[in-house]
Amino acid sequence: MKTVKFEYVWLDGHETPNLRSKVKVVEWMPKEDIIVKNLPMWNFDGSSTNQAPGSASECLLKPVRIYPWNMNYYIVLCEVQNIDGTDHSTNARSGLRKLIKNADQEEFWWGFEQEYFVTKDRIPLGFPQGGYPKPQGLYYCGVGGNQVRARGLVETHLTTCLGMDIFLTGTNAEVAIGQWEYQCFAKDTLKACDDLWVSRYVLYRLAEEVELDIDISPKPVPGNWNGSGCHTNYSNKFMREEGGKKWFMNLLDRLKSRHADHILAYGKDNSSRLTGKHETQHMDKFSWGVADRGASIRVPFQVEQNDWKGYIEDRRPAANCDPYQVARLILETTLDDQYTIQSESSGDKAPGKK
Ligand code: MG
Repeated sequence: MKTVKFEYVWLDGHETPNLRSKVKVVEWMPKEDIIVKNLPMWNFDGSSTNQAPGSASECLLKPVRIYPWNMNYYIVLCEVQNIDGTDHSTNARSGLRKLIKNADQEEFWWGFEQEYFVTKDRIPLGFPQGGYPKPQGLYYCGVGGNQVRARGLVETHLTTCLGMDIFLTGTNAEVAIGQWEYQCFAKDTLKACDDLWVSRYVLYRLAEEVELDIDISPKPVPGNWNGSGCHTNYSNKFMREEGGKKWFMNLLDRLKSRHADHILAYGKDNSSRLTGKHETQHMDKFSWGVADRGASIRVPFQVEQNDWKGYIEDRRPAANCDPYQVARLILETTLDDQYTIQSESSGDKAPGKK
């Protein structure tokens, strides 16, 4: 019998969500019919994923985005719902989705810089059992077996994601050995966040095939080694086309005043990474600076040179952050500010203002 395989992927209920998946085989359907609304709902045992008690364990999977993987094999990102069809309390995507209904006209663009370590038996590649390699210095963007490990995996990941319509704009070896980064870009907020989650899934999956694993915790190696972040670059149409110094200063004030809220949602154990060293600002402080990689927020020098038009980089999110949470907070903080300033200058209600 000719069939199509759909691998349903979802986020579990742990404090730092893990990716879970299971495969559904269905009777063959033509390619043009493979769209989200034609895929069946499914269910899973929520008592095994921290999402339900054993006595009422069923949770629902609602397909929300389809990615081609292999011939007649698709990765299907799903939202988790309760048995009555309402959004499950662990479904952070639904919160962002509702917010976007009011914000999608703002045309946000997102560039996530996902850092990670490649590990074998829980130890980063290049680290000897019970010891340390040479100190940091030559590993960043390095070449050769003493500087860089697992390049083959990184390149396979890049090619695979591009083939799945996930726009990775680049990769590089990072500051510690065994540590890498890729950049994931999209001009649509939900797609940007979905793509980041699915690109992580693909990375775990490809690593598993060669008996390696991926560690996105913020500080896998204590001491004088860089941690892993998920620097979040973003802009919206207003920032790119109008902006202005006054507007940006106001945004930065707003980000400062909501610093604690952002930090709470920017990844577990981020305090081990945001120490004020290794190109980070201390978690308890907020700062911004033009071209400053030791600040909470970096304003690229091109923005200052271009009459304060362009994007900013939030350097606080940890590598294990949930992009749905990060994007939701950034949208809320950015849009509040934009509306205030626009209303002041034009005397009009800003477009999209509720
Ligand atoms: Mg980096």
